[in-house]
Amino acid sequence: MFHEQVRIAIVGAGLSGLTLARVLQVHGIASTVFELEASPTARQQGGQLDIHHDTGQEALREAGLYDDFLALVHRGAEATRVLDPHNTLLHASHDDGAGQRPEVDRGQLRALLLDSLHDGTVRWGKKLLAVTPTGAGHTLHFADGSAVTADLVVGGDGAWSRLRPLLTAVKPAYTGISFVEGRIRQADEKHPACAAVVGRGALFALAPDHGILGHREHDGSLHLYLAVRAPESWLGTMDFSDASAVRTTLLARFSSWAPELRALVQHTDEDLIPRHIHALPTGHRWEHRAGVTLLGDAAHLMSPFAGEGANLAMFDGAALGLALVRHGDDVDAAVRAYEAAMFDRSEVAARKSEAGLALCFGADAPHGLVDVFEGRVAM
Ligand SMILES: Cc1cc2nc3c(=O)[nH]c(=O)nc-3n(C[C@H](O)[C@H](O)[C@H](O)COP(=O)(O)OP(=O)(O)OC[C@H]3O[C@@H](n4cnc5c(N)ncnc54)[C@H](O)[C@@H]3O)c2cc1C
Repeated sequence: MFHEQVRIAIVGAGLSGLTLARVLQVHGIASTVFELEASPTARQQGGQLDIHHDTGQEALREAGLYDDFLALVHRGAEATRVLDPHNTLLHASHDDGAGQRPEVDRGQLRALLLDSLHDGTVRWGKKLLAVTPTGAGHTLHFADGSAVTADLVVGGDGAWSRLRPLLTAVKPAYTGISFVEGRIRQADEKHPACAAVVGRGALFALAPDHGILGHREHDGSLHLYLAVRAPESWLGTMDFSDASAVRTTLLARFSSWAPELRALVQHTDEDLIPRHIHALPTGHRWEHRAGVTLLGDAAHLMSPFAGEGANLAMFDGAALGLALVRHGDDVDAAVRAYEAAMFDRSEVAARKSEAGLALCFGADAPHGLVDVFEGRVAM
């Protein structure tokens, strides 16, 4: 069995793990990222992300990649439309370029981080199966039979982290919201009416317990989340190899909606993806344990209704990296300082995400969200 020793092992080449590796590299500190996927292109990376000035953008500055990030910004995409199920426009804003949350493609952002790392920093095809305490550190055991012992292991391995059980028995819980994710490609050419409903940026078409969340992407496709409050078993009742049947089931949930909005469901391409929305308890924290910590969703999975997850993931990566730089050889002090600030920061964001879920799918939807967008209510 191949067994090596590294100082800092990061599990997961998502936004959190890659930002940590990059910030460490900027300061001359080596780390190794172990990622289960076979290559950088093994999986489609999903839709757009709005990158917040005080978290995601700050992390990119620390990573020395802010100007490259600006070059990726999808101009015009901060525009927002809120509709009710009758296709009545309740709120519209335009992207005048002065917003604090520019939109970028998640795949391009991840590629920016990946390309900034020295060759060999990311080891692909390394699925973590188990972790064991070993002397002063921990040993990571991978599915390919190899193992690595590290002084510090960092879990940036997402919602179902294999490292989290070392620190806490708490698991993510289903929030009650299920998504079917879909796309309408070449929307301007093939379905211009759908493109017009979504507009230049984000669409929130909402009613109590269900809604259509959409976004126009930089390549002209429409990216849609068809959202329903449903039992956790609901998505499992659908056969996702039969997109037509899935659309029929969804249309039954949107039967009273205006034809213009139902068309967004009808015209989705074949590749529909089921997604349960889970979250860790708000305010979740753990007792510090030497030699191991978590970043991003592994630490504080939350629902996406405040758009904070990816931003916090990057901020965590940068914050831990900077703490390790500041504390020098005292890795334990660095991790303690990082965790204390991260727990407070993520609790605030998780409360916003909970509030966002209630605004999007509560009895008053979509009016509460309109109040927030129009500045009558703070979130
Ligand atoms: C539908 C949806 C929409 C969202 N929209 C937004 C949004 O608009 N804005 C926003 O800020 N956030 C959004 N989020 C949240 C955001 O996607 C996450 O918070 C963010 O991706 C977390 O980054 P991460 O690096 O912590 O984890 P991830 O991005 O999940 O990365 C984890 C990495 O670890 C790897 N991995 C997992 N297990 C192992 C293992 N055992 N061994 C090795 N590697 C492993 C994975 O392959 C992956 O590459 C959304 C989430 C969802 C579900």
